Amino acid sequence: MPDLFLLATRNSGKLREIADLAGPEGFEVLSLADFPALAEVEETGETFAANALLKARAACRATGLITLADDSGLEVDALAGAPGVRSARFAGENHCDRSNNAKLLEALRETPAAERTARFRCVMAVVTPAGAERLVEGVAEGLIAAEPRGAGGFGYDPLFWLPEAGMMMAELSPAEKNRCSHRGKALRQALRVIKDM
Ligand code: IMP
Repeated sequence: MPDLFLLATRNSGKLREIADLAGPEGFEVLSLADFPALAEVEETGETFAANALLKARAACRATGLITLADDSGLEVDALAGAPGVRSARFAGENHCDRSNNAKLLEALRETPAAERTARFRCVMAVVTPAGAERLVEGVAEGLIAAEPRGAGGFGYDPLFWLPEAGMMMAELSPAEKNRCSHRGKALRQALRVIKDM
């Protein structure tokens, strides 16, 4: 029987990435799309860890399932770590990927290429109905490009140059992205944690 866990997200991009990696490892992944009546949890934390725990605890309490939640975002050194926990709403509450990317390019207009260092960070929280809680983290280092390129992924992927791959994050296949992304790195640790639980 597959190990079952709930992924506390309604983001279909994240669900696809996580299910792609977890499925072959013998996990069945449910998401909040399977629980349409559950209320949205406000991400009021000031850190990725705080928000991941908020989401995992709420969904675990409501469903009684082992729950994994991630909080992730982009940290740009020239912007003192912004957008960070506000990555999804960088351009305002009615955000979309395109307006967030446009705001990022504008904020870095005067920043030379060598100073456009950045990283994606992903913190995952695993919470069990018995009250156990674990946190894991994955990071992908890169540079913010001067213009978008690539059609894969989501969010800031078309602006994120990944030196280890020699490509934009949005140019990677889903399997390649999972191999080097912040989320893939965090998830491999989280799956081990869930198996141990
Ligand atoms: P979260 O859903 O609160 O974790 O917000 C994450 C936000 O960070 C997303 O809406 C994206 O803007 C950005 N982000 C996180 N992971 C990625 C990724 O893998 N690629 C591109 N953008 C990402």
